[in-house]
Amino acid sequence: MKKRTEMTVETVQEVALDTIEMKLNHPYISTAAQPGQFLHVLAEGHTLRRPISIASIDREYGTITILFKVMGSGTKNLAAMKPGMEVNVVGPSGNGFTVQETPARTALLVGGGIGVPPLYGLAEELQRKGIGVKSILGFQSRAHVFYKEKFERIGTTYMVTDDGTLGHHGLVTDILDKAGRFDHYYSCGPIPMLKAVREQLRGHPGFLSLEERMGCGTGACLACVVRAETESGYQKICTDGPVFDADEVIL
Ligand SMILES: Cc1cc2nc3c(=O)[nH]c(=O)nc-3n(C[C@H](O)[C@H](O)[C@H](O)COP(=O)(O)OP(=O)(O)OC[C@H]3O[C@@H](n4cnc5c(N)ncnc54)[C@H](O)[C@@H]3O)c2cc1C
Repeated sequence: MKKRTEMTVETVQEVALDTIEMKLNHPYISTAAQPGQFLHVLAEGHTLRRPISIASIDREYGTITILFKVMGSGTKNLAAMKPGMEVNVVGPSGNGFTVQETPARTALLVGGGIGVPPLYGLAEELQRKGIGVKSILGFQSRAHVFYKEKFERIGTTYMVTDDGTLGHHGLVTDILDKAGRFDHYYSCGPIPMLKAVREQLRGHPGFLSLEERMGCGTGACLACVVRAETESGYQKICTDGPVFDADEVIL
């Protein structure tokens, strides 16, 4: 069950260009959260909350890590918070990733930019469940790269940058075949990337996490609807997602 509550900021640090890692403490949220869910964060000076994915969960220490890119004034204000301050959140929100344990032995994770954070929590969960992880991670440039070593500690990781300053020069979809065999794939990133990944991996079971614009986060305002193969013809990212079966949504 999600709660509206205050989380205490433990650490804030810039881990890549304009990209902030923030550790937040809350015993209940860290116990209830699942990889792929998000926190709906109230940034100072704003009425609408900002959705930020849960990047890692430490149940022992009661913390949740989020990673966000400074895009506008909401994320700028959030980045200015200091350890000891309190952030008002609603969470854990959304459905989270479905981890297929059988017969899955290997999962392929494909992330782009700010779509990478939720995949890290998923990678940790897959590793805990004994499922092999291969990752393909795309960023604008070397300066934007974060968590490369953390993913490498979990499994084979291929890096891709738009400008070729690290890893493959181009798009994550250029090197999908490098990953070899896998049972399921999980992808998060911009919609054009998700469309291309799904197209190339057609025939493989997969899950897509959508990080589009969101309004109320409670399913009431319909700001985040996406067309889907359902009776109603749509799904809400905030309450039906953000994770969907790859064949369910029309991108
Ligand atoms: C389920 C979900 C999970 C998310 N997880 C993360 C995360 O883990 N890390 C992270 O950095 N961001 C994440 N986002 C995106 C994040 O919510 C937005 O970047 C943030 O709300 C921007 O707020 P702002 O006030 O800083 O910018 P605004 O002033 O609202 O916008 C600044 C600029 O960013 C653009 N923008 C705003 N939201 C988005 C978006 N969702 N996608 C693309 N462009 C956008 C605007 O069009 C505008 O040009 C997630 C979004 C969703 C829906």
